[in-house]
Amino acid sequence: MNQLTKSYGKEHAVRDVSFALENGRCTALLGPNGAGKTTILKMLSGLLKPTDGTIHFTKTKARKDNRKYIGFLPQHPVFYDWMTGREFLMYAGRLSHLSFNEAKFRADELLTRVGIEEAGNQRIGKYSGGMKQRLGIAQAMIHRPALLMLDEPVSALDPIGRREILQMMKDLKKETTLLFSTHILNDAEEVSDDVLILRKGLKVAEGNIHDLRTEQQKAKIHVQVK
Ligand code: ATP
Repeated sequence: MNQLTKSYGKEHAVRDVSFALENGRCTALLGPNGAGKTTILKMLSGLLKPTDGTIHFTKTKARKDNRKYIGFLPQHPVFYDWMTGREFLMYAGRLSHLSFNEAKFRADELLTRVGIEEAGNQRIGKYSGGMKQRLGIAQAMIHRPALLMLDEPVSALDPIGRREILQMMKDLKKETTLLFSTHILNDAEEVSDDVLILRKGLKVAEGNIHDLRTEQQKAKIHVQVK
């Protein structure tokens, strides 16, 4: 994305932010509340129109609609508690234009992939927060997106759920390009290869997470993130 800006009146939620995601890598959008993380993810997913700037997807030649290229788990996903996990994934698959058989196959595959296969026939209303988050990630992956975007995927979870989802993200990044937002430096360090640090809508640092790990830079990041 190049010089991306989203303004609301005179206020800039995101201002002149440029960065490139590398295929096969995991990038963390790191920043405190109001930094512009969600706004960036919404612009990338096509939910928000940038006020200025451009977004390019290099792999979309065969897929004109970027939504097919992207899987997105919003910060507060909505589930139908009366559905079973399997029904919910099939429903998502059918909405993504998978055939009935493909949706069924993919739902079963993903229930296993995210570790909730035994709860596939349970109503979502009975799921724990961590299980719902797994289901949300499965839903975002139903159409085999090349880019998976997760908005604060662990912020609402207890420590155990948090650990489980972070571990799952480490596994997922082996098979898809991953972009996730967080306000916790340790989460970014644990899972991501690259980091983009935002504050008040502006990019304040970016790069390989390990290069940014020197003590001096770490201290700087802490100050910037708080
Ligand atoms: P959080 O961690 O709290 O979700 P964030 O980094 O995701 O924060 P955004 O939700 O992208 O931040 O918001 C960035 C800024 O834009 C905030 O100051 C927010 O108040 C503002 N903003 C977001 N959406 C709107 C809107 N629809 N109208 C006006 N201002 C908005």
